[in-house]
Amino acid sequence: MTRKTKPFWQIEMAAENILQHHECYNAPYSGIDFIIECCKIDLIPINTDNQRLMGMLGDDSNGHRFIAYNKSMIPERILFTKAHELGHFILEHKLKSDILIENKDDERDPQETEANVFASALLMPKELTIKVIKKRLEDLQLYLDDDGKFNYGSLHKEQKDCLISAMKQNFHTSKEAIEWRIQNLFK
Ligand SMILES: [Zn+2]
Repeated sequence: MTRKTKPFWQIEMAAENILQHHECYNAPYSGIDFIIECCKIDLIPINTDNQRLMGMLGDDSNGHRFIAYNKSMIPERILFTKAHELGHFILEHKLKSDILIENKDDERDPQETEANVFASALLMPKELTIKVIKKRLEDLQLYLDDDGKFNYGSLHKEQKDCLISAMKQNFHTSKEAIEWRIQNLFK
């Protein structure tokens, strides 16, 4: 695949617009099912032992769009998968053979990067994330520099854990997703 990824700010804006439109900017995790429903997409939990299968976006034989997700995953993973699949839909990605199945092998596909960027922007909105991080840094007597940046990598483990737990409380996302978001927003 040679296509380049869309600029991240564009994806960020798409996510932001949806949150504002559905009035769930302050608690995206609680609005995700509603947003998906408003897009006329069916949400289908599936039972599978296949741990590599996270979710999929597709059309059924009646032309109904659906998002299926592996319901045995942890809640943070399910949330992120729903947002990721919604991202494929909002960003008008091409379905391969009418269906996009998620597994770890697809990570280098630009569509997958874009869907991940969308999901983290949707679940951890920029301004709110900055607010949460800034507050918690201040509790630790740490501060953003003049450009609003800080070096996450240079923090001690306890300091990192403190930021992660504040983020989890607000956004219900996984540590992995949180660290990715912090490193991209504040670098
Ligand atoms: Zn995907």
